[in-house]
Amino acid sequence: MPRPVKNSNSGIESNPLTRLCEKLHQHVPGLHLWAASLYHSNRPPLLTEVILTQPLRTPPSVTRHVQQQQFMVRGETVYGYTTAPCPLPCDGPAPRVMRHTGQGHAEGEPGDCEQCGFLVGQILVELGVGGTGSTTSSPRPLQYRDVFILTWVNSLHDAKSDASGQVTRPASGVLRGVRGAGIPVTVLQPEDEDGVRDVATMAGPNHVIATDCGVVQGLERKVVVWVGGLDGYDAWGRLFAASRCTSQLVLVTPPPREQSDTSRDDDSDCN
Ligand SMILES: [Zn+2]
Repeated sequence: MPRPVKNSNSGIESNPLTRLCEKLHQHVPGLHLWAASLYHSNRPPLLTEVILTQPLRTPPSVTRHVQQQQFMVRGETVYGYTTAPCPLPCDGPAPRVMRHTGQGHAEGEPGDCEQCGFLVGQILVELGVGGTGSTTSSPRPLQYRDVFILTWVNSLHDAKSDASGQVTRPASGVLRGVRGAGIPVTVLQPEDEDGVRDVATMAGPNHVIATDCGVVQGLERKVVVWVGGLDGYDAWGRLFAASRCTSQLVLVTPPPREQSDTSRDDDSDCN
């Protein structure tokens, strides 16, 4: 355990992680404790800060998008990335950006829009997700389980039925649309611990997983679809979702600012 270092953040001395570190330090001789994916403003004073800001698996095309998010631009909450010491072999596919606006789109949030979902499904088909190519070919075909559809605060829901099997609440529009394009989707709820474990280990059905960013925080997928919202937390969700992507990022964004009541980021640099 490193020596205590000065940390001027107010309230940090009393937070649960700080108390845990202090008790462990008192009771476990020679302990070396590491904490990762921790906001630097939440670092217990007993821990020395080491900054690892080089993207390891995110391609530059996605890294640039993550860097645009306001929390990383300011560096107050999340440090920005550092430049790779040597050039990477490729830039990676450009993020695909879809606007939830125009003919055929539902009113309200993108997550409620079947048209957005169908267009996402078409992109997944175009990418070859769920293809039947040889599993021995290189690279192997994308499976459905290689895809996350992520939102913020779990705004997507599956259909609900009563005891007679009558649907009392249809699934979120974007899920209906994706399924309409022939893509199997499972909605992962935060309380489904077995489901979260299966997703972490790539077990369970070979389905696309739709869930909240926080439920699968720390996990990565080759294809990540971020379904934006109109609320003020959208930038947070985009930061968490985009940084989970190791290849193709797909963004479903709300209407342009003048059509929305709330402020949010501009996507013009992602097209
Ligand atoms: Zn739409």
